[in-house]
Amino acid sequence: MSSLREDELQSRLLDLTPEELQRRILQAVRRGASMAEIADLKDSDVATPEEAIQALMDGNARFFGGQARRPEIGANERRAQIMGQTPYAAVLACSDSRVPVELVFDQGLGQLFVVRVAGNVVGEGGLGTLEYAIKHLDVHLIVVLGHEGCGAVAAALMSPEEIAQEPTNLQTLIGRIKPSVEQLPTIRDKKARMREAVINNVRHQVQILRRQPVVQEAEASGQIRVIGGFYEIGSGAVDFLIDEDELRV
Ligand SMILES: [Zn+2]
Repeated sequence: MSSLREDELQSRLLDLTPEELQRRILQAVRRGASMAEIADLKDSDVATPEEAIQALMDGNARFFGGQARRPEIGANERRAQIMGQTPYAAVLACSDSRVPVELVFDQGLGQLFVVRVAGNVVGEGGLGTLEYAIKHLDVHLIVVLGHEGCGAVAAALMSPEEIAQEPTNLQTLIGRIKPSVEQLPTIRDKKARMREAVINNVRHQVQILRRQPVVQEAEASGQIRVIGGFYEIGSGAVDFLIDEDELRV
């Protein structure tokens, strides 16, 4: 019988299907492996920012291609998570009900650490949450995910008089988006203008994150990368903003 360590090594080498992972977990349970050892079996194939980006790209392709296989495979996978969580990426996304992060990336339980707030803006609570993900969960990637038809970004394009009629806390939130839509080039097409505003907001929030010492340090050491994404509701596809020139405000 092969040892758990060999199994672990193998799962790093192979791109396991969820069914295969489920089978390995079941084998480990039968062998009497500890919960900690079983937890190690999960997602051991995602160990770098590049692999994390690839896993999200592959998952999104399954989602928009109608091949989604998540969120849950079975009771064993769920049980293997009792000891703790080992998400490989953190996502700062919008609260919009049409953008459920795990579904969009076809990810299962315990894989993504998610902050959702209208307009995917960086605020105190969200920043602390992402710092926790970096320091204590050892994630390899942070994604700021904007989306088509974002109501929060549309609100930031309203007149100051209109914004003044909103509740105070909502005004504060809109205020965090405003700088990224203020210097938009003139675009006549409304849909194209909104897309540009959303993407600019993603870039802007990425820049804010990158000014935070914990994020800076983790990026400099190679632990994480901070990237952006634009989710298109109609197609289900995410456009990834990965290179520096795509992320520049
Ligand atoms: Zn939104």
